[in-house]
Amino acid sequence: MTALPLDLQRGACPALSAPMMTGDGLLARISLIETISPEQLAHICRLALTHGNGMVDISARGNLQVRGLSETSAPHLDADVRAMNLPLREGLAVEVPPLAGMDDSEIADPRPLAEAIRDAARNITGLAPKMAVVVDGVGVLRLSDLLADIRLVAIGKHDWKLLLGGTEQSAYVFNVLRETLVVDTVIDMLKRLAILGNKARGRDLASDLAVNEPTPHTSSSSSGLSRGSASVATVDPSQMLGTSPSMTAGKVAASPFDLFRLSNHRHAVGIGPAFGQAKAEHLIALCGEAARLGIRSLKPALDHSLLFFGTEIAFRALRDFAHDNGFITSVTDPRSHIAACSGSPACNSATIATHEIAAAAAAECADLLDGSFKLHVTGCPKGCAHPQPAALAICGTADRVSLIAQGKAADQPFAFSSFADTNATLRRLADLVGSERRPGENSAACLARIGSDRLAAAATGRS
Ligand code: SF4
Repeated sequence: MTALPLDLQRGACPALSAPMMTGDGLLARISLIETISPEQLAHICRLALTHGNGMVDISARGNLQVRGLSETSAPHLDADVRAMNLPLREGLAVEVPPLAGMDDSEIADPRPLAEAIRDAARNITGLAPKMAVVVDGVGVLRLSDLLADIRLVAIGKHDWKLLLGGTEQSAYVFNVLRETLVVDTVIDMLKRLAILGNKARGRDLASDLAVNEPTPHTSSSSSGLSRGSASVATVDPSQMLGTSPSMTAGKVAASPFDLFRLSNHRHAVGIGPAFGQAKAEHLIALCGEAARLGIRSLKPALDHSLLFFGTEIAFRALRDFAHDNGFITSVTDPRSHIAACSGSPACNSATIATHEIAAAAAAECADLLDGSFKLHVTGCPKGCAHPQPAALAICGTADRVSLIAQGKAADQPFAFSSFADTNATLRRLADLVGSERRPGENSAACLARIGSDRLAAAATGRS
């Protein structure tokens, strides 16, 4: 048979028809642009049991991932999923928040712009595999913490701020545009990125535009809302370290693990598997219960969640069922504040069992995990689960575990721990934060104030 297109490079994106090799076989991604039914998700899970190893991920961006496929079984999964006629996203990733169009608090509905950009970008080739455009209408659930090459953020019913690269907090602000100019401007930018090559990302474009002419669509005369020029201004990245964007504004970012009141008397509830991964049988049982309760639609969403849509009464029963079966059902669950990659044994780059470490951390360090930051537990310095800096990261290396403060997994560690001592080390750090915390101070701020030297002393038991 024809060999599958395997792309093992850093930055590769495991699509449905081009799965990526991982430690437990090929991984295929199913990206949806609309809701599906509980029965459809249960069917995907049955396909994961038939063709894969029965493990299903919900990624931080809200994509389904089927693990443990072989070169023989992956094409069958592809064909069987396509036969389901699901609302699959093909081509460029143009993402909107999961409650878009149903959320009364939204400044603007981002879906028409997202669809127009997706359509117009159909023939652009040569973009980076992980190229992502985010269109955020600024409702209750935001995509601010997800990386995006091009990000549009509603600032008025018909006005959009355009940012390049990074998270919303760390991005370069390019300009403010009238809605009528947005699609052409974004398509211009995507074409420029394609010309720069398939490794070029939004930040490269920011540097490119900083020394080149502004695009015609972004001049102050064309939009009437321009900041005066197309010059690139950067937000101070230090503002984001250890805190979500909303934290810097003094409030905790909304979590999907909650109950949401939507327009037209609809409701949604967020439920998720621990660390974004579940056995297919467990998801099938959850979907069965949802269907039994009359819930007709769901959507995989940000932060490894599943948003179910229906009535409030059904949700209370579904939440009880999910909680009793080990799912995350509340933002107060410390597991929802840990970003852990698949780790060992699922990924052959991993040197630590990330989920075991993360589960122990959630059980033993709940006081540290107050929602002010994501504890990053990563099997190797690639840091798949949390590409952004974190207030605290634990990273597997060849012969030990490194600890990083205010940085990415590959950044300079402040201390090391033996594999066996990892959770005890974390407990010592949690104790230090517990004893040092000032009234009203959250863990992220406390970790930042304590600083690397004192964290290192605590990690190694010298304090
Ligand atoms: S970060 Fe985790 S999942 Fe990604 S390559 Fe490393 S060990 Fe594997």
